[in-house]
Amino acid sequence: MRYETIKKLCCPIDKEDLALTTVTKDTDGNILQGFLTCGKCQRIYPIVQGIPIMSPDEYREFRLEQPLLDKWKKHLKGRVVENFRVISHNSDKQELKPGNIK
Ligand SMILES: [Zn+2]
Repeated sequence: MRYETIKKLCCPIDKEDLALTTVTKDTDGNILQGFLTCGKCQRIYPIVQGIPIMSPDEYREFRLEQPLLDKWKKHLKGRVVENFRVISHNSDKQELKPGNIK
């Protein structure tokens, strides 16, 4: 898919702009693999063979996307994906400290 086309896409859930991470592109600069992330709902939409997967959650199967996300792990820069959302582990989750475990 062409970069110009991808840039026009917005999140189907909340219409927010999406941030693009390119993993591979062809010789013409078209994006073959990568993912789009929404800054509002934190959803991640993979781009597979140039096609962005932008179905609602209930039509997505995480086990089909998991191998891709594993492969693209370094592009996620330490973030993890849960329930189709990109989660930064240090932000909102309270860390389990030894003193907190009863
Ligand atoms: Zn969104």
